[in-house]
Amino acid sequence: MTFHILTIFPEFFTGPFSHGVVSRAAATGLLEIRIHNLRDWTTDRHKSVDDRPFGGGEGMVLKPGPIFEAVESIWPDRRPGSPGGSEDGGKVLLLSAQGRLFDQAMANRLSREAELLLICGRYEGVDERVAEHLAADEISIGNYVLSGGELAAAVVIDAVARLLPGVLGNESSAAFESFQETGHGQGLLDCPHWTRPADFRGWKVPEVLLNGNHEEIRRFRQRLAREKTARLRPDLLAAEPGDAE
Ligand code: SAH
Repeated sequence: MTFHILTIFPEFFTGPFSHGVVSRAAATGLLEIRIHNLRDWTTDRHKSVDDRPFGGGEGMVLKPGPIFEAVESIWPDRRPGSPGGSEDGGKVLLLSAQGRLFDQAMANRLSREAELLLICGRYEGVDERVAEHLAADEISIGNYVLSGGELAAAVVIDAVARLLPGVLGNESSAAFESFQETGHGQGLLDCPHWTRPADFRGWKVPEVLLNGNHEEIRRFRQRLAREKTARLRPDLLAAEPGDAE
């Protein structure tokens, strides 16, 4: 899968993508991350990407021109009138505090796309015509305001990347994680995990995990996952069954 990122801070992504799972997957060719500098599509001497908002008010707004030009040159086959370009096997997504909330179900859906192009906003945001006529979707990673879409894009890419076939060493491990409909979680939180030592400062690991009875362990984990969900995330129990994917 190919991820494109459109940003005014290309160097931002050196950190997030050079560790662990995502970096390994990129090195083995399971995914590709291509970072595009929005300023490459400016035409004026100052390479300006922003301007003052119509109607007045604080801050600056990212102009539509360079963003449309960039997307159209990254994906020249994108059909006009097919916002987001999904018919061409890819989706344009705008990171935005006003977007639909990103969750595991959305990560699953996005992991089935051939390519994603993520547009990172800055300043007060992005000219609304990008959301209306260019992006397939506006995505928010949570109910808070960040100073730019870069962190959000890194979050989305990390969550989607680990769902791609072969990216996690153990094929089944994504299925058993929190929020996944598959595995013991059934859309709930993952069960708690313990490792050695079995007795740490007098706090003992549950006995049943040490007895080697796989069926008993499976049922025990399912019960703990449910208990932890009820305690910390009762909203997930209320949402049952299966409105995630
Ligand atoms: N004025 C906007 C916030 C702009 S923040 C508002 O009040 O809604 C600048 C940029 O940061 C946004 O364009 C967006 O790309 C990014 N951003 C901020 N919060 C975000 C969030 N919760 N999820 C995804 N992107 C976010």
